[in-house]
Amino acid sequence: MSERVQRSSADEWDQLLVGAHIATMRTGGRAYGELPDTALAIKGERIAWLGPTAEGRRLAANKNIDVQDLQGLWITPGLIDCHTHLVYGGNRVAEFEQRLCGVSYEDIARAGGGIQSTVRATRAASAAALQESALVRLRRLMAEGVTTIEIKSGYGLELSAERRLLEVARDLGERLPVSVRKTFLGLHSLPPEFAANRQEFVHRVSGPWLDALAAEGLVDAVDAFCENIAFSVEETRQLLAAAKTLGLAAHVHAGQLSDMGAAELAAQWGALSADHLEYLSASGARAMAAAGTVAVLLPTAYFTLRQTTPPPVALLREAGVQIAVATDCNPGTSPCSSLLTAMNMACTLFGLTPEEALSGATRNAARALGIQNDVGTIATGMRADLAFWRIERPAELAYGLGANPCVGVMYGGRLRGELLRTAAVVR
Ligand SMILES: [Zn+2]
Repeated sequence: MSERVQRSSADEWDQLLVGAHIATMRTGGRAYGELPDTALAIKGERIAWLGPTAEGRRLAANKNIDVQDLQGLWITPGLIDCHTHLVYGGNRVAEFEQRLCGVSYEDIARAGGGIQSTVRATRAASAAALQESALVRLRRLMAEGVTTIEIKSGYGLELSAERRLLEVARDLGERLPVSVRKTFLGLHSLPPEFAANRQEFVHRVSGPWLDALAAEGLVDAVDAFCENIAFSVEETRQLLAAAKTLGLAAHVHAGQLSDMGAAELAAQWGALSADHLEYLSASGARAMAAAGTVAVLLPTAYFTLRQTTPPPVALLREAGVQIAVATDCNPGTSPCSSLLTAMNMACTLFGLTPEEALSGATRNAARALGIQNDVGTIATGMRADLAFWRIERPAELAYGLGANPCVGVMYGGRLRGELLRTAAVVR
């Protein structure tokens, strides 16, 4: 790029951040895509330029541009939590106690607890109550640098309640500076009123309910809990087929408790992600790699359930599957609203490297949501969704337990958080 072009584009910059260490999370260069002592220019909602601090200062000199010296702060892409059930009624603290007294997740589910108890509480909750409780969790995630979150329905399991969950998810994104991707998890659990008629439920979810919610703009993707205590491969296939017809993306809860071939199914239908994957065969991993289906690992659910078989990370690496990490924030199996904690557990419990964990909460999480051309890495043209950290090196983000070194967040070029109080502002 010639100097002349750079100068003309500098005239259009709104702001320039200098003196930052940037973990771009782009591949092919240094670890974490690191750019030391870097300047980052922003125009509107987008990143306009990246280069050495001295060069950035020179280009911005004598122009009406806000210049902030970050004095060695680290910048990463805004974090992306690509698998949550953030919106729900009630909580499941009683079952937490039961499980600690030796009752299994499957037994609780078969006895009408588990997901069904949250379904009852969710159906009874107003939109306002759902939003209020979800806001608390969302704010915690955002305080850790999350700028994009996926939110699944699935605790309504009747059209009106599923719609309410998806509307609350949409409204959260309109109310707060965070991007929300809405997933219709129609096949989460069989509601009791359909206990004698599974086929009819699957038919409604995949047919009229999905059609209605998609027509209302409430569905970015579908999801199914493909598991022996939930829905079969064939039932899941019906929903994936319907989604494909409507041009919607898909995720699949796969291999959490057993390997039913759900990962192969997800790959076969071009799902963006297969999630959990504690039980995954080599053929499943190969199919995912070939299809570009991302493996979303959910270590805080594994931790909460005290599972003992971790996902086959070596197999995923060997096959070339992209790995993401998410909170699975939900009241039963992962009451976790800390993506940094999920990253820590992805390292300590699953053996991911800290760089893999951070890639999993940025670049690969974006891929798992199909938005990798917009967010998840730091490069010219990408959305200026950024997290600012007072750390010595990026591995620190996966290192601390209960630590939150986030000192600020930028969403679409606008700062929120405390950055202004912790870094010098110069003109
Ligand atoms: Zn889940």
